[in-house]
Amino acid sequence: MRSIVISLWLAGAAGAWAQSAEPKSVVIKAGRLIDVRAGRVLENQQILVEGERIRQVAAAVNAPAGAETIDLTRATVMPGLIDNHVHVMLQGDVTEADYDEQLLKESTPYRAIRATVAVRNALMNGFTTMRDLETEGAMYADVDVKKAIERGVIPGPRLFVSTRAFAPTGMYPLLGYSWELKMPEGVDVTDGVDNLRHAVREQVKYGADWIKYYSDRGYFLKDGVLHSKVNYRLEESKALVEETHRLGHKVAAHAMGREGIEAALDSGVDTIEHGDGLDEALIDRMVSKGVYWCPTIFIGIYDAPGRTAAGAPIWTAMMGVMQNAFALGVKKGVKISFGTDVGGFPWTVNQAKEFSYMVKYGMTPMQAIQAATLVGAALLDEQENLGAIEAGKMADIVAVSGDPLSDVTELERVKFVMKAGVVYKR
Ligand SMILES: [Zn+2]
Repeated sequence: MRSIVISLWLAGAAGAWAQSAEPKSVVIKAGRLIDVRAGRVLENQQILVEGERIRQVAAAVNAPAGAETIDLTRATVMPGLIDNHVHVMLQGDVTEADYDEQLLKESTPYRAIRATVAVRNALMNGFTTMRDLETEGAMYADVDVKKAIERGVIPGPRLFVSTRAFAPTGMYPLLGYSWELKMPEGVDVTDGVDNLRHAVREQVKYGADWIKYYSDRGYFLKDGVLHSKVNYRLEESKALVEETHRLGHKVAAHAMGREGIEAALDSGVDTIEHGDGLDEALIDRMVSKGVYWCPTIFIGIYDAPGRTAAGAPIWTAMMGVMQNAFALGVKKGVKISFGTDVGGFPWTVNQAKEFSYMVKYGMTPMQAIQAATLVGAALLDEQENLGAIEAGKMADIVAVSGDPLSDVTELERVKFVMKAGVVYKR
């Protein structure tokens, strides 16, 4: 009973969620199948799933006797979606007050309980894999959420986690409180080369798949360019990256302004997060070094009005900066991965809204889908397992009823979700 429908889960049937070990064969009949590698749509295809993996994709597969059939002949079938920038431990932080309240008034166990709902929402929306880019003060609780998903305790996407991001002293919330109070920290506050090397080892020891750090802060616009203040001295960020790579892991850098992006690239990071201030020269550097970019457009649009009202109009100005950078990035062929920063906006808002902005800002719907499948999988170094519907890959398969290539908002209405051969929604 590998392929069980557990939509009932939403009704609270927790006991129904038990992964059985018996591999089972399932044939999915796809009316339309998006071949993300070739960038085309195939009609009337069959997908043979055995256990957790895809065995064959063809007009007629060699199905064993007794294979279950799933009829998606009236649907568009595609690989499970990948969001490479999320925060499962956060529930929206339009303003500083929203953020501080979560760190001050919610315990880590409470935040982890909320995270279990967040990951279920994401899975039901078609996201079968996510990279979580820091717990915002909730220590290593992302490792526990990942473990609970892997062990079948709760339904959720396959997670790659970065535990606690790094920033130097005084450069990340919580800030502005009386010096007499010992406040919680939103990050792993670590200064100095040796301390950073030690802290990277510690995070990997406790389960970090990725290492994340904040390259910049203090954004301001001058002559149409988004500038920022760089957090770490170059020798510190270089040591952080070098130590991470030495341990066989990769580094994601939060970098929004020109200076922050430049410092992150100088340090040798693997992915640039946000990257609003990217210009032609920086994009060229990313292309030549093969650095990935997670632009996170939608959160800027979602958070800008609230942040502007709270006295930070730069967030409104950044919307236009991002639009220009994104169009330039698409034109120059930088590797753009789908990433939303959901958690920075509430998990009740479907993170798939990002797709329509990617298209509005210059991608074709097919390119946006590739960013959330093929490119997303490659960023994770999981191109052998994830990101396409091909023999040998994990059976992460979703379906929508319309045509997302003519209306990309169809991806906000995912009707069928299979992760690793198990059906979660249909
Ligand atoms: Zn983020």
